[in-house]
Amino acid sequence: METVTIKPDVVIIGSGVGGGAVARQLAATGAKILILERGDFLPNEPQNADAEAVFVQARYKTRDEWQDQTGRRYRPGQYYYVGGHTKFYGTAMFRFRESDFEAVPHEDGTSPAWPLGYHDLAPFYDQAEAIFGVRGHAGDDPTEPPRKAYPHPAIPHEPLIAGLAARFAKRGLRPFHMPSAVDLGPGGSCRRCGTCDAFACRFGAKGDAEMRLIRPLLGRDNVTLWTGAEVRRLLTDDAGQRITAAEIRRGGETLRIDAPLFILSAGAINSALILLRSANAQNPQGIANRSGVVGRYLMNHHLTGLMALHPFGVNDTRFPKTLSINDFYHGLPQDRAARGNIQMLGNIQGPMIGGAYPWVPRFAANLLGRHSIDILCMSEDLPVAESRVRLLEGDRVEVDYRPGDRAPHLRFVRHVRRLLRSMFPLVLQHHFGIEAPSHQCGTVRMGDDPRQSALDGWCRAHDHPNLYVVDAGFFPSSAALNPALTIAAQALRVGSHLQTRWPHAAAA
Ligand SMILES: Cc1cc2nc3c(=O)[nH]c(=O)nc-3n(C[C@H](O)[C@H](O)[C@H](O)COP(=O)(O)OP(=O)(O)OC[C@H]3O[C@@H](n4cnc5c(N)ncnc54)[C@H](O)[C@@H]3O)c2cc1C
Repeated sequence: METVTIKPDVVIIGSGVGGGAVARQLAATGAKILILERGDFLPNEPQNADAEAVFVQARYKTRDEWQDQTGRRYRPGQYYYVGGHTKFYGTAMFRFRESDFEAVPHEDGTSPAWPLGYHDLAPFYDQAEAIFGVRGHAGDDPTEPPRKAYPHPAIPHEPLIAGLAARFAKRGLRPFHMPSAVDLGPGGSCRRCGTCDAFACRFGAKGDAEMRLIRPLLGRDNVTLWTGAEVRRLLTDDAGQRITAAEIRRGGETLRIDAPLFILSAGAINSALILLRSANAQNPQGIANRSGVVGRYLMNHHLTGLMALHPFGVNDTRFPKTLSINDFYHGLPQDRAARGNIQMLGNIQGPMIGGAYPWVPRFAANLLGRHSIDILCMSEDLPVAESRVRLLEGDRVEVDYRPGDRAPHLRFVRHVRRLLRSMFPLVLQHHFGIEAPSHQCGTVRMGDDPRQSALDGWCRAHDHPNLYVVDAGFFPSSAALNPALTIAAQALRVGSHLQTRWPHAAAA
């Protein structure tokens, strides 16, 4: 293994929302930062917006294979590019509710408290919304935590979605404008191309981690990004405490990069895999894993898509993700355990249906895509210790996912479906499983007790003073709202903590 002469002060592993947000804060200190990203820049090409290329040919998905607990192998919906999963995300940028940071009883168990409260994150939610250019309207969402005005006004509903909002309101609900990080306003760069959620943006209009966090740093002398640099494991000193180096694969070579400070942000599943793969004599269960929690408590949200068919009208909405409903966030009136968020999905197109159900004739799939209004029901997934990622012999990856609190989600979906059936003649249903681990989190959980968590409330490893983990792996619970803004806010908070302690933070 070759030791590289580059001598960074900080190594950041992964250029997604977590890694990018810490890089942004630390760059201001003048610290020499090296960002190691296994992927490349996503090419800007016509296929970006081609549902056939994205969903049927799976052009952008990793070619790696994982397996489930039965040994069945599959290509997971993992995307390795500068910007991470936000390159494909749907731009819904929600803050978690105040109660999401507290212990909340559920049907299958308790959603644990975080080692920080909403008020700790609030200033960093403000900062994250400004960076990502979030559009929304404060005061409309009945469960909204205390907050200032959004940095930009909400995106108005297109006619069909406005009609749907009116129909929900007539049934006593309080639909609101969904907060969204897309540059869609007067003079904005969004072209309303009709693809967004699950597609990459060709116009740079999506507020993703590449455009909003990484690219603005690349002109700086103290920030270097290495693409095609896959971190395999972390190395420690003889005591097994300080992280001394990252071992990486780049251009067919194995390299060793030494640094005083390491920020791991490879995504919840990959960060856990790196820590497990780094097991050594002093850390036989893996780095940061004295408690045995690394790789466990994998959560992904209960996500069910509902396609409400609108047989006599075509859904010509270009940007549907403007509407959300939180009236059932704390439970249905008659069933408090059945709860969750309702939000618009991006437009479902025929090839997406074909990708998931290859036996559906394409003309039928296209017809469904044209006539459907597409809605997502999201419920909290409880952390379950047996829900885990494992490294098997030969470096094979097993994802043994055990969702928590599933039955109440199904009752919640049944309720929403009934509501939609009062408006539309036919409502179809699709459950998104762990093959698409889009909201993966929880595998390197934070907590106050080192016996039950890997990280403290500043995302610092309890056992390794110079290691932080700032991707969605740190979530102790998943809430029932999209994760990206909370990852960004906590990573900005951690970055700002390190910034105020710089340069001592690196020597800690
Ligand atoms: C289709 C889709 C739609 C979504 N929609 C929304 C939405 O509307 N709102 C929302 O809030 N969230 C959404 N999400 C989820 C959101 O994108 C993720 O929660 C978030 O991007 C995760 O950020 P992260 O920093 O934890 O990890 P990632 O985004 O996974 O970043 C990790 C980075 O590390 C790199 N990496 C991985 N392994 C290594 C390694 N060994 N060495 C070096 N680099 C490595 C990866 O390539 C990646 O760039 C969506 C996700 C998908 C897939």
